[in-house]
Amino acid sequence: MQGLMMNAPLTITSIVHHAERVHGRKEIVSVTRDNPRHRYTYKDAFGRARQLANAIAGWKLEQGDRIATFAWNDYRHFETYYASACSGYVCHTINPRLFPEQIVYIINHADDQWVFLDPDFWPIVEGVADQCPGVKGWVVMTTREHMPVTDRDNVVCYEELLEGQSSTFEWPELDENAACSLCYTSGTTGNPKGVLYSHRSTMLHTYATMMPDALGIASSDVVMPIVPMFHVNAWGNPYACPVAGAKMVMPGAKMGDGATLAALINEEGVTMSAGVPTVWLNLLNHLRSTGERVDTLERVVVGGSACPLSIMEEFDTYGVDTRHAWGMTEMSPLGTSNAAGANRAQFTDDEFAKMRTNVGIPVFGVEVKITDDDNNELPWDGKAFGALKVRGPWICESYYKLDGSDAHSEPGWFETGDVATINPDGYVSITDRTKDVIKSGGEWISSIEVENCATGHPMVAEAGVIGRMHPKWGERPLLIVVRNEQGADLTPDELKNYLDGKIAKWWIPDDVQFIDAMPHTATGKIQKMELREMFADYQFPDA
Ligand code: ADP
Repeated sequence: MQGLMMNAPLTITSIVHHAERVHGRKEIVSVTRDNPRHRYTYKDAFGRARQLANAIAGWKLEQGDRIATFAWNDYRHFETYYASACSGYVCHTINPRLFPEQIVYIINHADDQWVFLDPDFWPIVEGVADQCPGVKGWVVMTTREHMPVTDRDNVVCYEELLEGQSSTFEWPELDENAACSLCYTSGTTGNPKGVLYSHRSTMLHTYATMMPDALGIASSDVVMPIVPMFHVNAWGNPYACPVAGAKMVMPGAKMGDGATLAALINEEGVTMSAGVPTVWLNLLNHLRSTGERVDTLERVVVGGSACPLSIMEEFDTYGVDTRHAWGMTEMSPLGTSNAAGANRAQFTDDEFAKMRTNVGIPVFGVEVKITDDDNNELPWDGKAFGALKVRGPWICESYYKLDGSDAHSEPGWFETGDVATINPDGYVSITDRTKDVIKSGGEWISSIEVENCATGHPMVAEAGVIGRMHPKWGERPLLIVVRNEQGADLTPDELKNYLDGKIAKWWIPDDVQFIDAMPHTATGKIQKMELREMFADYQFPDA
């Protein structure tokens, strides 16, 4: 027997209807190149999204056509998200940190019809535009006076595009399974792969991210997403905030600038923010050097890479709870979240320190398991390491225009490419990327854990661990370190002594090499492949 409830489609358009009516007066504050502190309301935002929808309607695109964005987190990008997806097109967010050849590849692969870009990225676009013959026009998200000077004839000013357009627009009825947005993985090996989100998957993910033990977004929050809207939809913040009625604060091009972040937090009363570990290092360095505080900030969600305990403990001194989360582009991205801080009283200091560096429990909606090389499921005992697999309604079933993939070899499951342990209570610990694992004498060493410990040393700015050949052990860990301003005298022995007692003895790297700058991927992760290339001929002193 079927239930007798309404089958209302789960579409992003419903967010517009809801937020405009019940949270219309809540603010969106943005930093843009043409205005260091632009502010308006959700009502204004959706009115302008409809003006934009009217303008786009004049382009006579087909439903499902891709409209790309190449932009920072700000109100115009927010408008473009909604105008494109709610009109029935697909908003393809492009990461400007990709290599130009990857940008060309994904624009052509996605068959983008129009590209909306921040003026900061005009130089990149000028370099690639001729190689993207399918693009009908480039919309620069700024005012007339800030437009780049160019001879190209298909360049449009965003504000001029909106001018004179009506702010009424009848959003089309959409199928909840229709695609709404597209994001490519950063493709550390091979070409980037497209993950095509649907209205339904986005809505379910939105509900999930808002849960108290996940990102916990409420109407009382002032949310500053420092996770970019150009990669995995800023972890869903641009959808969750208008659903909750949370004020949004968007740092634009200043997302890596500690001083701007601190000013935005203090002046706008930010309560919650989300970002990768590097942005938190920038903020904490700024606070340390100026003595400023961030009193309104209650919690930060950290993900994208493992969050070192040292970051969490430094945030403790400001009264900020650090919530460690894990996920990936293919998961919309949220997979797990660690809300140990909300249950602080249950743990002793030591237990808490140990507890909070894992990535937490699966968010309801995401099922996880770990398997061995023969695809046998491994126990949740906190010890067995295995390939981490996931399934759920906001997890990628297949890549865009790609028949099959190794990640989908087990029907119904997605193989994340991460190696993990899961403890009896369901807490997941990410040990490594499958391709980064270090096997010493047949046993695994978690490069992530060694890196986290090394980053805790007061003279270390960044640390990466890779496995190098060793005649006796097969592989041994090599620690590669970028020293900070105080670190000129740091020696390999001092670092090794520092690690002694903090990690298993046999996990202590056999050697330490210092470099000036760490190579990063387009999403800010340490580029292990490049480290391995840099140290391709390296031999351990005792080898
Ligand atoms: P990319 O954009 O590089 O394709 P994603 O941004 O989707 O990748 O990142 C996904 C990967 O990032 C995960 O599979 C995992 O290896 C790593 N990752 C994300 N969050 C965490 C975390 N909290 N701890 C450790 N690793 C993480």
